[in-house]
Amino acid sequence: MFDPQKLLRPHLKTLVPYTSARDEYKGDEGVFLDANENPIGSITEENWNRYPDPYQLSLKAKLAEIKGVDSNQIFLGNGSDEPIDLIYRAFCEPGNDEVIINAPTYGMYKVSADINNVSVKEVLLTDKFDLDQGAINKAISDKTKVIWICSPNNPTGNDLSIEITESILKSFNGLVVIDEAYIDFADRPSWINRLNEFPNLIVLQTMSKAWGLAALRMGIAFCSVGVRTILDKIKAPYNLSGLTQRTVLDSLKNLDKKEEMVKQLLLNRDQLGSELESLEGVVKVYPTDANFFLVKMINAREVYLRLIEKKVILRDRSGVVLCEGGIRITVGTEEENERLIKELKKLK
Ligand SMILES: *Cc1c(COP(=O)(O)O)cnc(C)c1O
Repeated sequence: MFDPQKLLRPHLKTLVPYTSARDEYKGDEGVFLDANENPIGSITEENWNRYPDPYQLSLKAKLAEIKGVDSNQIFLGNGSDEPIDLIYRAFCEPGNDEVIINAPTYGMYKVSADINNVSVKEVLLTDKFDLDQGAINKAISDKTKVIWICSPNNPTGNDLSIEITESILKSFNGLVVIDEAYIDFADRPSWINRLNEFPNLIVLQTMSKAWGLAALRMGIAFCSVGVRTILDKIKAPYNLSGLTQRTVLDSLKNLDKKEEMVKQLLLNRDQLGSELESLEGVVKVYPTDANFFLVKMINAREVYLRLIEKKVILRDRSGVVLCEGGIRITVGTEEENERLIKELKKLK
C-alpha cells in the first residue's frame, strides 16, 4: 500500500510547522491581540487588516460540494505553480531523486525541478502525442518519486490515454500527478472521481483557464488526506490572500456563468478549427481537448513574428520537440478569432 510518509524527504518527518494563535482559537468574535495586526482598519475602503484563513476552510467546503470530493482531499495554492513546487520540496531530495515528464509538455514541471535541483527524465510522447508506456516503465528507477502527466496536454492539446494512466497509477509506487488545467474543455470525467482508488494520485486543477480568474492565482491539488497534510505542513502559512479567497468563493457560487463561458469557447473552438484548416500554409490542425490548438504551419517562426507586428500574439512552439513547425493558438472571442484569421490570410 502506498504511504506518502515513506516518500517524504527524511528531514521533513520531524518538521514542526508554523502555528498561529488562531490555530488554537477558532471563531470570528473576540478581541484579537495575537497577530500584531492593525486594529483600526485598513487604508483602503474595505478592511483587509486581519490575516486570512490559512487553511481556506469555507472555500474548500464549497469546492468539495461542487467537485464531489471530501474537503480534506483539497489543497489550495497560489496558482498551480505552488503545488507543483511543493511536491518537489516535500518528496524529492535535491541532487538525488528523479521525476519523469512526458514531453512535450507544460514547462513548469521542469523549471520547478531545476529550481529544486531535482533531475528530470524526459520521456517522449508517441508520434500520436500519447503516453509511451514502455518508455515510461524503462525510465522508472528506484529514485523516481513523481510522474507528471498533463491531460489534456499542453502544448499538444489532446487528452492522454486513460488506460495507460491507470496502469501507471496501479504499478508505480511514487506519486502520479495528473494536471487537468484544461479539464473543463475535455469530454471526459475528471480523475478526481477516482481519488479514493489511488492514494498516490494528485490531480491539479486551476482557476486560471475556464473560470477566467488567472490574475487571482489559485490552483487546486486534489489528493489523499496523507498527501494534503504534508503539503499543508510546508506551505507558507497565508498562501492565499483574503481577496483571492473571497472572490473565488463568490465565483464558485456562479457555476452557471463558468459553464456558459465554456460552452461559448467550445463553439468558438469548432469555428476557429475549421477556419484554420482551410488556410493556405496550414499543414495540420491537431485535434484538441483544450481551449487552444497546436497548428503545424509552413514557416511557423516567420508567421509568428509577422503576426506580432500586427499585435496578434501566438505561442511559437516550433522549436519544441515533436512540435516542429508548431504554433499554439488560444481560442479567443469571435472577434479575436476573426482578426487572427484575417491577418493570417493577409500573409504571403
Ligand atoms: C495554464 C496551465 C496551468 C495553470 O497554472 P496556474 O499557476 O494555476 O495559473 C497549469 N498547468 C498547465 C498545464 C497549464 O497549461
